[in-house]
Amino acid sequence: MKQFRVFIRNLSMAGLFLFVTKMAIAHPGGHYLPNDVFNTWTLASGRTIEGNFLMAHDNTIVLEQKGGGRITVFVDLLSDQDKALALFKIRKYNTLNEQVRVNQPADLSLLESAFEPYQPAVTTSSDENYFYVSSRGIANHPMMIGITSWQQQVPIPQNYSGSNAWPIPLRPVLAETPMSTRNNFMRGAIAIAVNGIPIFNALNNRGEDAYLIGELDNWGGHCGKGDDYHYHTAPLHLSAISLLKPIAFALDGFAVYGEKEPDGSAVLPLDECHGHFAANGLYHYHGTKNYPYMIAAMRGKVNTDNKTPAPENQILPQAFTAPVRPPLKPLRGAVITNCVATANNAFSITYKIAGKNGSVNYYWDEKNSYYFTFIDTDGNQTTASYERRNGRKKD
Ligand SMILES: [Zn+2]
Ligand SMILES: [Zn+2]
Repeated sequence: MKQFRVFIRNLSMAGLFLFVTKMAIAHPGGHYLPNDVFNTWTLASGRTIEGNFLMAHDNTIVLEQKGGGRITVFVDLLSDQDKALALFKIRKYNTLNEQVRVNQPADLSLLESAFEPYQPAVTTSSDENYFYVSSRGIANHPMMIGITSWQQQVPIPQNYSGSNAWPIPLRPVLAETPMSTRNNFMRGAIAIAVNGIPIFNALNNRGEDAYLIGELDNWGGHCGKGDDYHYHTAPLHLSAISLLKPIAFALDGFAVYGEKEPDGSAVLPLDECHGHFAANGLYHYHGTKNYPYMIAAMRGKVNTDNKTPAPENQILPQAFTAPVRPPLKPLRGAVITNCVATANNAFSITYKIAGKNGSVNYYWDEKNSYYFTFIDTDGNQTTASYERRNGRKKD
């Protein structure tokens, strides 16, 4: 290090201008190990500098030196031959960076590693265009507890697999005008959490914040008309397992991180979509505890199904649920106090109305039949069973 400083001083004394850089790297040219061979750059004065091209900024190149040190060199100070080489590298670097900004290639290994902790409940695959997430839509944590505004739906397994797996675009494209989640996407999911649970708009179809009106459990989730468990807020609790990895991926292809940057530092300022471009040129969102929670607008281009106009439009492609029973009415005054898996294929949900307990016990079999027992707060018991295939009541 001492030698290095002397070297710099000598160069400065010779009337040259070099400085060690702390600039953020947009698209690093690569990192080098101690035994790697270093290029030698010759200055017009005849002096030489060892270092490999890392990045360019205006009319300077940044060289990475032995031990990871960086030195910035004005191109005009280089010998004619190395000046030509530097200008070539700058052009190539700028083109690459521009391509990353425009093309936003997905990081397949990031996708795979993000979903990996939740295997085997969640499995993944990919083809040329999409990364696919398969799951049964049953969360890896207790569900439903804490709901104070309940439509009587309960979590049952979903068939998010095969042609109905969750598709994440592998080549996200930046949208010219990001579509706001305030007046779009009130139907369907906008993201898939890394534990295989879909994430819907934070606002319900009446424009209300589902969390603030008591519709959600302690994990930001509840069940829809297909008895499909899903979140409406950012699943920040997943960071306990995912650590610094993404907690979800938006259906535009961009990662959603938790309350820290991927390197563990505090979250940098967020833009109007609730995300930002990382040092590697790729865009990502962040989850937060308050509205908009996760995605304020889709930074990436998405296709929408406009069978029902905005805000009731939905992103396509995405996975779907197939209801097994008709939707029920809200159960006024009910507060869900417990939800436990009583077997691999069974749950028991307990609720309270005016201090009295009621429950829903249910199980399913391998023939895709679902059997429910309802015990109301007066102790009256009723049963019902359904086949998933057509949502028809069995008996
Ligand atoms: Zn919902
Ligand atoms: Zn970030």
